[in-house]
Amino acid sequence: MILPGASLGVLGGGQLGRMFTLAAHSMGYRIVVLDPDPHSPAGLIANQHIKADYRDRAALQMLGDECAAITTEFENIPADSLEFLERYCPVRPDAAAVRIAQNRIHEKTFIQEHGLATAPFAAIYEAADIEEAFAGLTPPLLLKTASMGYDGKGQLPVNTPDEARVAFGKMGNTPCVLEELVELEREISVVLARNINAETAIYPVGENRHVNGILDTTMVPSGADPATTAAAINMARQLADAMNYCGVLAVEFFCTGQGELLINEIAPRPHNSGHFTADACETSQFEQQVRMMCGLTPGNTLLLSAVVMTNLTGDIWGDNEPAWQHVLNEPGAHLHLYGKREARPGRKMGHINCLAGDVDSALETTARIRAALKI
Ligand code: AMP
Repeated sequence: MILPGASLGVLGGGQLGRMFTLAAHSMGYRIVVLDPDPHSPAGLIANQHIKADYRDRAALQMLGDECAAITTEFENIPADSLEFLERYCPVRPDAAAVRIAQNRIHEKTFIQEHGLATAPFAAIYEAADIEEAFAGLTPPLLLKTASMGYDGKGQLPVNTPDEARVAFGKMGNTPCVLEELVELEREISVVLARNINAETAIYPVGENRHVNGILDTTMVPSGADPATTAAAINMARQLADAMNYCGVLAVEFFCTGQGELLINEIAPRPHNSGHFTADACETSQFEQQVRMMCGLTPGNTLLLSAVVMTNLTGDIWGDNEPAWQHVLNEPGAHLHLYGKREARPGRKMGHINCLAGDVDSALETTARIRAALKI
């Protein structure tokens, strides 16, 4: 067990790293952030900020020497760097888990190899693979880069092999997955925490709405029926066990119009769709991240209130700071801002959790705030 007073390291200094740092600080841990950005949201509040590239061996060594355990806040940290750090201290989740999650081909193959369903897909390593891939898939399709894609970036709709070849060129001829576009009834996600002894705590399932490929809203409880909810939880648990996972894991699902449950992707870290836990659950997903990396017992995940989480992107900033009084005047609304210096369209700047007796009431409060802020 790594106890308060120890130093914990986090690779990446974005909003997830910042909320991890806040949780860890309140529990009495010291935090060291590694992120090249001198203004990174987590770096600004950490005890120590190592400003270096994620491949910089001297910087990684400094982090490893300083920390009792290390975690990551985004999956695009080079897995080799995590492997290097494993020489110094526990790295949770480990390089092997992050390696799976950071590449859509590895991820979907791993999911299918464990008997779980994804949307039908084919791996495209070179343009010559496209013709054969079309033979096994039913358009409309999406071409997605295998790595470094997030928030709908690195995705193009394609209907014919010619369109796919053009799209593959636009992606820089980098490995991709070609995937069937699924008819979505709803999207749901499961966030769980699993420690080195395989003790697992699972959060209530959230229902997610995306706008332009970016998460917009999470509602909890979700509208999914009990059988679907139980199946999603079971699938998420199976995946975590298959990876012998240690840390917080998020699993995103598509519920199709045909009643199927497909895994879209996994995130080896706290997730945007788990932000509701900070105000609406007994233990936040960031406290769980601390607990898991420190070899502690998972905290209770009980839902204390129905909740609607709304993302705030840079689109609502304009020339001035948004009129936050419209959020803060609502007794059930909780504002979280990430301290980013520059607001850009589509950039995640913060979120709001609206708590109420039921999701419909939370949606009413959310609607008032959205109208006032022009979300
Ligand atoms: P991703 O980056 O793969 O998580 O995609 C972002 C969002 O785009 C998803 O949450 C869905 O709303 C949508 N999307 C991605 N892939 C598909 C698909 N195969 N079928 C339908 N919608 C999709």
